[in-house]
Amino acid sequence: MSSHPDIIPQPGIMQISPYVAGKSTAQGGNRVTKLSSNENPLGPSPAAKAAYIEAAGTLETYPSSDHAPLRMAIATVHGLDASRIICGAGSDEIIAFLCNTYAGIGDEVLYTEHGFSMYAISAQAAGATPVAAPETNLHADVDALLAACNDHTKLVFLANPNNPTGTMIPHSEITRLAENLPPQALLVLDGAYAEFIEGFDGHASLVETRDNVVMTRTFSKIYGLGGARIGWGYGPEHVIGALNRVRGPFNVSAGALKAAEAAVQDVGYTTHCRTENAKWRAWLQSALREIGIPSDESFANFILTRFENPTMAEAADAYLQTRGLVVRNVAGYGLPACLRITIGDEIACRAVASALADFMKGARA
Ligand SMILES: *Cc1c(COP(=O)(O)O)cnc(C)c1O
Repeated sequence: MSSHPDIIPQPGIMQISPYVAGKSTAQGGNRVTKLSSNENPLGPSPAAKAAYIEAAGTLETYPSSDHAPLRMAIATVHGLDASRIICGAGSDEIIAFLCNTYAGIGDEVLYTEHGFSMYAISAQAAGATPVAAPETNLHADVDALLAACNDHTKLVFLANPNNPTGTMIPHSEITRLAENLPPQALLVLDGAYAEFIEGFDGHASLVETRDNVVMTRTFSKIYGLGGARIGWGYGPEHVIGALNRVRGPFNVSAGALKAAEAAVQDVGYTTHCRTENAKWRAWLQSALREIGIPSDESFANFILTRFENPTMAEAADAYLQTRGLVVRNVAGYGLPACLRITIGDEIACRAVASALADFMKGARA
């Protein structure tokens, strides 16, 4: 039974389109290579793995509830104030805290046309109305975002670099957005892919100077800890203080806290992952461009490949699956002629290039 006459979910809940996760299986192909969820092909730092295993020795005890050791480690590595960091079960949980804290019935939550789908899901779960502002050439458009703001706009989510487009807009544009938002609106800068750009602080410097900007970060992408579910947020005292009232005391597990602490401290390993990603991203992008599959410059660990039309993108997706390669169909993000391909290791990148070369030969024959 899909509905009950008397037991009724809160407004907005039944309008949610459930999140669609990247596929992890494929028809045909013996070994499956998953390139659909932007996971790190090199896995987490060995130190993070060891810390997670060690945490198994004390599973009967509740984890830290203030997350102080992890917040201190993050603050030290990134040069931030530990008292204004909040940890969550993935940055998805921080996104949910923000929506539950600042948006409700009658309020609007704004994001870009090809924005991460959790923004709309969490907004609707809080009873608020999700609103998408148009992009220009697959890039966030600050003027369009500002034009979409009104007295009801409570949150503005922007990932920079963005998923699934992989594109980025300059710090000056982010600053202009923050400066011109209506007074009741909080800007949330989603830095899920910030670590893939050398020397980039995810706009933490803007958080330091303004009281209407929050940054979210994750251990799921470059740190290779997607399975542990841990992320964090950084913001002004008034925001972090409010979010901590919504947060459950034991929202993050002991293993995740220990693994993340070791991961953020292993700066050498993070650099290695960044370098490998940049190398194979450039290689794959140019290999695909040569065979007629273009993509915009990506600043993250995936590329958004463009095909001539949706039919061709679907056929390419199906063909890749026959070769054991699972990529992300992004039709649900309004990009039916595109496929998002995570940058795997060398073997995976070469396999994708060779499979798509065969596909294109077949398509043109
Ligand atoms: C992957 C991703 C997240 C992070 O999700 P977690 O809950 O931390 O695993 C957040 N935002 C964007 C844009 C992402 O692509």
